[in-house]
Amino acid sequence: MLTAGIDVGSTASKAVIFDGTIKGQAVIPTGWNPREAGLRVYQEALQDAGFAEEDVSIIVGTGYGRISLPFVEKRVTEITCHAKGAKYLFPLTKTVIDIGGQDSKVISINEDGSVADFVMNDKCAAGTGRFLQVMTGVLDITLEELGQMGLDVEPASINSMCTVFAESEIIGLLAQGVKKGAIASGIINAISRKLLSLTGRVPCNSEITFSGGVANNPAICQLLSVALGLDFNVPADPQIVGALGAAIIGCGQ
Ligand code: ADP
Repeated sequence: MLTAGIDVGSTASKAVIFDGTIKGQAVIPTGWNPREAGLRVYQEALQDAGFAEEDVSIIVGTGYGRISLPFVEKRVTEITCHAKGAKYLFPLTKTVIDIGGQDSKVISINEDGSVADFVMNDKCAAGTGRFLQVMTGVLDITLEELGQMGLDVEPASINSMCTVFAESEIIGLLAQGVKKGAIASGIINAISRKLLSLTGRVPCNSEITFSGGVANNPAICQLLSVALGLDFNVPADPQIVGALGAAIIGCGQ
């Protein structure tokens, strides 16, 4: 049975075509129209898989934009989908850390892949991909450079968790001549402090799987792992874990 999972996130839309294994996938920016983005990412994933719409038995939508998708048969929260997707990729997963565009979550999961508990930061951009994007803007570097520059460098102290205040702090540090590498390392430390405030609130047991767009960045993964004092599995395509989970749920698994 061929299924599709579509995850329309705040920043990126993802789709996976699945029949027990991943047949195709796509990631595109969500932009201003979640419905359009959901449809387009679905079509791109179908093309990647070499299938047509009539081959798909069921489409499951997830992500904040799932309500905007009139063509999906089922809608499931991204919490449930990330848990399913992570458990499929790393069957021993007990905890999922997901850092997306505008929220971050820690999900504690049961043996069968269902959600035992979760905690989520979606009230502000602190500790999210958006936080990183704003900071790279101030430093005039790419996300890849931010991770690389922060490796093996003593972090500058960035005290504010708030994106707006942290941005002002960084402007101040640059004015004092602090090196960008130290600031980059300090930015990752700020993210890890925010995550620690989440990991302290639900059982955070090994194995831990790291999902979401920020996990695309190997250097940031490495820095976060050291700062949090935790090892985690990083999927080859961490951004599609929610869409994969949705497609797996479509299979009735
Ligand atoms: P959402 O579902 O909320 O849209 P995603 O899980 O799709 O979020 O992740 C989107 C976020 O991931 C964006 O903020 C983007 O900047 C970030 N991101 C994507 N690729 C990278 C990368 N290589 N390094 C750091 N951040 C990244």
